[in-house]
Amino acid sequence: MQVVKAQRDRSTDNEHSEAHAHELERVLEQVLEQTGEAVIVKDLNAVVTYWNREAASLYGFYAHEAVGQPLRKLHAADLSDADYARLLDRVRAGHPTSSSAERRKKTGEIVRVTLKTSPLLDAQGKLVGEITIARDVTALHRTEESLRGNNRALATTVRQLESFHRDSEALSRMTELLQSCTQRAEAYSIVRETGAQLFPHSSGSLFIYRESRDMLEHATSWGGDRALETTLAPEDCWALRLGNPHFVPRKGAIRCRHAHEDAESYVCMPVQGQGRILGLLHIAVEVSPRSLRPARAIDRRLRAMTDRVGPALANLKLRDALREMALHDGLTGLYNRRYLEDALNRELHRAERSDKPVSVVMIDIDHFKHFNDTFGHDAGDLVLSAIAGAITKSIRPCDIACRYGGEELAIVLPEASLECARGRVEQLRLAIRDTHLIHLGQRLPAPTASFGVAVYPANGMKPADLLKAADQALYRAKQEGRDRVCVATEAVLAGS
Ligand code: GH3
Ligand code: MG
Ligand code: MG
Repeated sequence: MQVVKAQRDRSTDNEHSEAHAHELERVLEQVLEQTGEAVIVKDLNAVVTYWNREAASLYGFYAHEAVGQPLRKLHAADLSDADYARLLDRVRAGHPTSSSAERRKKTGEIVRVTLKTSPLLDAQGKLVGEITIARDVTALHRTEESLRGNNRALATTVRQLESFHRDSEALSRMTELLQSCTQRAEAYSIVRETGAQLFPHSSGSLFIYRESRDMLEHATSWGGDRALETTLAPEDCWALRLGNPHFVPRKGAIRCRHAHEDAESYVCMPVQGQGRILGLLHIAVEVSPRSLRPARAIDRRLRAMTDRVGPALANLKLRDALREMALHDGLTGLYNRRYLEDALNRELHRAERSDKPVSVVMIDIDHFKHFNDTFGHDAGDLVLSAIAGAITKSIRPCDIACRYGGEELAIVLPEASLECARGRVEQLRLAIRDTHLIHLGQRLPAPTASFGVAVYPANGMKPADLLKAADQALYRAKQEGRDRVCVATEAVLAGS
């Protein structure tokens, strides 16, 4: 009886604990279904033994489709053999892991998941499988990717902006410098420096049209441009012939003759200012053989540079022309009186240091009024320019000839003694007498002129004294009958 009771009690205990276990399983099941994360349990062969609702919604396989299937047939179908083998090794090693991976859904769509795995142990602590908790992070991942992409784009834009900024700084500095430079050589150095700044890995050269426009002369180079010819004929350059930039890729067939021996890529940019082509920028930059253009940033730089160099050079040319006009007489092309006085001052200082003479010659055309009165003012002008021409022909490059005023002319002869000057003026006198002019079909009588010569330091130490001494000698020449050369005989005292 005792035994029977004991047996009954034991069976009641078993029923209780079974019921308890059942209840626990039900609770756990509910918890697992409600966790909001995909929970997958698999055995040591990666065959699914448990698949919760979230796993079904994540991978698209229902629990009844998944349970009993190896992962290979489910969302791990894309894994390579090697990767799948690694997955099996991991399951069998029983190490917890955490990773992020791409998996294929039943629909074929790819999802990005974070995976946390932990070993599944039985009651004896033996490894029997693996529990995986997976979370869909596709949206997060896309956002991250696009952020990363945006960051990359932003970094590129920042780099471009920085390069824009550097370029525009170099270009505005160049424009500013070009505006305030007074000599061509200065301008060319500025172009060279800017070229080297904007195209640091390229070589380049600037060519400028000669006044005659039959040739261009090499003005400057940077980046060790291989000794290009110093002159260039306009017809040897496609850019000059077409009036447009010419881009030539490496080994390109349509090469300019001036670059024919070179296989490298280059561009020729005509430099334009005030409506005409003033020169050419030849730069060895990379040109794409497909688009026949340089890279966008290079193209932009090339155009920005030529667009600024052109007007700046035109301005400089204009300034040169204005300076020329301010120093020269329009009718004869000789220097004007102001220039002569400055130049004489300079020459006397130099002569003082070098202890050399300077001769000054004053010239007055004889009976010039007669030409005007008889043949008209234009005929007078013609005579005046012809005599100026004869003077220009007879002097040396270092001599300075000017129209002193009206029909009076003057010459400064640095380092010429009185004797030397006298001899040369005598020749000039004969050359003037030999001038044959036709005006309006009418032959004009040969003009003559009278000359007065004075020398530094014998006849004066200051410009005004020397000019006065020469003028007095000229007066004497007139008095003695014109068409002759008289030399100053005595020093003109300052203030006399
Ligand atoms: P002389 O031998 O004494 O020097 O006689 P001249 O007739 O040359 O001297 P005068 O000073 O009486 O006359 C100079 C003339 O030169 C007067 C002026 O009208 C003329 N003249 C001055 N400048 C010009 C010019 O640019 N063109 C022309 N055609 N005539 C000018
Ligand atoms: Mg006169
Ligand atoms: Mg005269």
